[in-house]
Amino acid sequence: MFLIKRWYLLLIIMIFSSCNAVMEMIPLDIDKNLGEQFSYQINASQSEYPVLDPEKNKEVYTYVENIRNQLINSDKIKYRDHFPYTVKIIQDDNTLNAFCVAGGYIYVYTGLIKYVDSESELAGVLAHEIAHAENRHTVKQLAESYGTGVLISLIFGSDYRDLINIGQQLLSLKFSRGDEKEADQYAVEYLYDTPYDPRGVGGFFKKLIKEEKRSQ
Ligand SMILES: [Zn+2]
Repeated sequence: MFLIKRWYLLLIIMIFSSCNAVMEMIPLDIDKNLGEQFSYQINASQSEYPVLDPEKNKEVYTYVENIRNQLINSDKIKYRDHFPYTVKIIQDDNTLNAFCVAGGYIYVYTGLIKYVDSESELAGVLAHEIAHAENRHTVKQLAESYGTGVLISLIFGSDYRDLINIGQQLLSLKFSRGDEKEADQYAVEYLYDTPYDPRGVGGFFKKLIKEEKRSQ
């Protein structure tokens, strides 16, 4: 019976790999496992990702975690109890970036924290990153980039090494324009449930585009 169910699922995935209804059938554990693998890799590569020690940098961690807490307390966050939503700060003043890998592992560069003009701007960026995790854009993208075979092996859980190999490529995955737009829309929704100005989302990205133009 169990086998039949899995083959049925496989068939549906092969037909509608990028359809939202199918995404709902893919267990959240896949997002969590991918995120976990990725966070192990980050911890193991301190030279590439010099993560600040939370014990020695309590002030900045408290500041960012407070923003994170307000965002994930929004009623619109579906996976608060499923995803860890941990925050790690990467020491690199030249990188104006933040990212949140599948399963809710948030990373913020010190360059971004120093660059933003207000807490609302930083909240806007974090909300956008959280929205990527909430909307499971990484798993969706994996299905589109690597085909259904990858998803099938993840669902069947036959080879854990697949997860590690995929985890290594997570950062080079590019979200589609549609996913970026969706992340912005959800970010605004989350921000409405906080004291932060929802205009922080657009404000920061506009500023970043200007900055990029200047440095070109
Ligand atoms: Zn994005």
